[in-house]
Amino acid sequence: MNIHEYQAKDVLRRYGVPIPPGEVATTPDEAEAIARRVGKPVMVKAQVHVGGRGKAGGVKFCPTPEAAREKATAILGMDIKGLTVEKVLVTEAADIGTEAYVGIIVDRATKKAVFMVSAAGGIDIEEVAATTPEKIKYFPVDPRFGLLPFEAQQLGFFLYQDAKQARAAGKIMQQLYTAFVENGCSLAEINPLVVTPAGEVIAVDAKMVIDDNELERRKDLEALRDESSEAPSEVDARNANLTFIKLDGNVGCIVNGAGLAMATMDLVKFYGGEPANFLDIGGSSNPEKVVNALRIITADENVKAILFNIFGGITRTDDVANGIVTATKQNPLKVPIVIRLTGTNEEIAVKILSDNGFTALTDMDEAVKKAVQLATEGGK
Ligand code: GDP
Ligand code: MN
Repeated sequence: MNIHEYQAKDVLRRYGVPIPPGEVATTPDEAEAIARRVGKPVMVKAQVHVGGRGKAGGVKFCPTPEAAREKATAILGMDIKGLTVEKVLVTEAADIGTEAYVGIIVDRATKKAVFMVSAAGGIDIEEVAATTPEKIKYFPVDPRFGLLPFEAQQLGFFLYQDAKQARAAGKIMQQLYTAFVENGCSLAEINPLVVTPAGEVIAVDAKMVIDDNELERRKDLEALRDESSEAPSEVDARNANLTFIKLDGNVGCIVNGAGLAMATMDLVKFYGGEPANFLDIGGSSNPEKVVNALRIITADENVKAILFNIFGGITRTDDVANGIVTATKQNPLKVPIVIRLTGTNEEIAVKILSDNGFTALTDMDEAVKKAVQLATEGGK
């Protein structure tokens, strides 16, 4: 789960990270009032779940409260990479000397939380990694001890020559690490970490991604969810207990099991197509899930063909077939559908489907190839 910059900053402040004060606004009036309370020049910053807001015009310097109102008027409602800005953060503008990058991700190779730090901050770290990888230092943290003071200081010195600044940065990294662990994050990032002309080290932007598995036991974190900033199809899918991720392609995939779902997406790509989504209807078979899955997939205008790929184990393929029949009776399909199912109750499923005018395939290759072909034809 993504949370907004202002929420991540609230979390990090509790761990002691120095962050300029600010508040969130949903109207230009509120933005102006906050700027007045701050009593200094402010930044008005779009709160959407994407990076690169600055380049997209969603981060503006405002010397006066009137300017804050004006910029908030422009930014609220703006479209940034397909997301509508509903909120802005109005925060005291920092004087920037240098911009560094500090982030933590979970690394599968080392099975640890790994720090990534770079003095080339402010811009996308992906770009730094691609063009000047030597400017990034990676440091895996031993989970038994956390980030030890001397390790933190070494990382600090990778960023700054000045001992005071290096120590301050090290302390922030320890605070960031504790926040990362205690809030079940899969990512926590400060970009830019700024040294002001006065020599203070502060966090000017913050990002946190919380592992969805943490949310069941941490209702306080779940409460940070902002459904208005998530793809509507993902919200719908979550409420229907489906594991769903929206993608940009045109082959809508409905699959049981995460592994098979990934293999299906790979095969779609292999045959020259692009999946419109990842969707796992799960192991238990319930016609209702199929109905929900079809509703969510067909709501996506990009979808030009639907591909069912069901391997019946615990999932009974006849239940899936019934789900398809029910769903398409409720909402007749406007795009072609390719159904591949095999396994438990396969004969019954094939009969249900053919009685209702569908064809069922049993071969995965054949089904994927056909779906890609139909989607390509439909996209023309
Ligand atoms: P992002 O583009 O979504 O990562 O948003 P950021 O909050 O990182 O802002 C982008 C850039 O705007 C930063 O790298 C800074 O150069 C600039 N910026 C952001 N906040 C401030 C601030 O308080 N003062 C100044 N002078 N520049 C800022
Ligand atoms: Mn940033």
